[in-house]
Amino acid sequence: MDMATTYCDAVSTMDKNNVHKIYHDTAYGFPIDNDDELFGRLILEINQAGLSWSTILNKQENFRKAYKNFNIKKVAAFKEKDFERLMNDAGIIRNRLKINAAIENAKTLLNIQKEFGSFKNWIDHHHPKTKDEWVKIFKTTFRFTGGEIVNEFLMSTGYLPGAHVESCAVYKKVMKAKPAFLKK
Ligand SMILES: [Zn+2]
Repeated sequence: MDMATTYCDAVSTMDKNNVHKIYHDTAYGFPIDNDDELFGRLILEINQAGLSWSTILNKQENFRKAYKNFNIKKVAAFKEKDFERLMNDAGIIRNRLKINAAIENAKTLLNIQKEFGSFKNWIDHHHPKTKDEWVKIFKTTFRFTGGEIVNEFLMSTGYLPGAHVESCAVYKKVMKAKPAFLKK
């Protein structure tokens, strides 16, 4: 989302059924405890690269279905036929590098879960870091995790501040959920 600083303002006039409004009000900036859901958010952020966030939000249920409810174990076990299925699924983003990144990152996450107990523990283990430090860690660990993707992933899950402006009504809700950026 390259409109992060004005996202709160932008959605304030949107209809309650707008995908942006729903994402902003119920997901953006809120901590995620579930590893598969964290993985799912990372998949969405990776797939956004070069595209609009609207495109991704409109396809998010298709992504969830195509990537087996973002089940890390299942995606890590994807074979050539699964890759071909994804490449032929018009409901998602059919990009070789992005699909490959999802599968390879799932394999990496299985190792992380073995070593750290969970993906969340791994992030918590490294937290807090500056954006640049995070990008370095992600780049040496995962595929297709450039600066914007890492920044949005960590902001959208509460590890980096900035998802909502302080005057936004949802900012207070996010603070109640105790995002990690509060723990320095
Ligand atoms: Zn907001």
